[in-house]
Amino acid sequence: MQSRSSWDSSALAAAPSPRTEVVQITFLRRLLGRDDPAETVEVPIPVAPVEVPPAPAAPVPVTVACPNCGVVLDPPPTSSRLCPRCRHRIVVRHSEGRAIYLTEAAVEVFEAEREREAQVEEWTHQRRTWLQLARGVEAPVDRRRRLEKAPLTAATVQSARSLYLITVEHAVRAARRDKRWDDVARLRQRQAAALFEEAGGSPPPSEEVLGLHREAMAANLRALQAVTREAELVGASCCAACRADDERIFKITDELRTPRLPHAGCPRGLCPCDWWPVMRKPVTKRRRRASPATPKPVVVQEHAPEEPAPDS
Ligand SMILES: [Zn+2]
Ligand SMILES: [Zn+2]
Repeated sequence: MQSRSSWDSSALAAAPSPRTEVVQITFLRRLLGRDDPAETVEVPIPVAPVEVPPAPAAPVPVTVACPNCGVVLDPPPTSSRLCPRCRHRIVVRHSEGRAIYLTEAAVEVFEAEREREAQVEEWTHQRRTWLQLARGVEAPVDRRRRLEKAPLTAATVQSARSLYLITVEHAVRAARRDKRWDDVARLRQRQAAALFEEAGGSPPPSEEVLGLHREAMAANLRALQAVTREAELVGASCCAACRADDERIFKITDELRTPRLPHAGCPRGLCPCDWWPVMRKPVTKRRRRASPATPKPVVVQEHAPEEPAPDS
């Protein structure tokens, strides 16, 4: 709230005459196509298409006037220049395929408004992302709803982010306590990916992100440790480093000591390589019995029936 109001006032302060500016902001928003079309109000500002569209019926001549003195500019200027009559600067800006002609005083308001719109779009996206992640880790529904409806500010976005991060931390701790390693792996992998994306997604990932991803991979290995001592690396095809390790088998205890995932130098930053169990089945008598030489399935009956089953 605080930041929103101070931001708005600074935007207004940027222009010389506050009264005209308020008018200009609404009208500029309309120029940018941000306002509800139902609220359209006639504003005497010259706007011309950059490319002349095919005339629907009768060709309507586009009249562009100097925003300073109102003299008709024929042909309309394609770039910023001085008005031939009043000698004040006419600034040409383009927005969504249209040319907009502004006085120098209006340019600042125009740019500020564009910036604000971009900021709102970014915050909207960020809040949605964090709240979706928070839902994925079962953050309290009332807290999510509250943030969903809160005024869109940097502080709200930060709260949504914190809600996710705090909740995921609790979830990981609980999963670790219960030795639910698959859950630890899933939660940490998602968290690492989210923070990596937040930071721009360009490699190398930060130490924090790497640490989270490694923790996920280690949890995967711990889950496998319940059934096997070795794990097979399922290498992604993204780069030489990842392909080189594909199908290689490693001792889990070694990997836990010196983790190799994510592959350093993978251009994706967090490579999608993963661990699979290695099931080296010991050759037993039982297995030999189940060889193709004896196709009949072994029917193990704990309590043998009194009479032998009818032969089929
Ligand atoms: Zn890899
Ligand atoms: Zn790779």
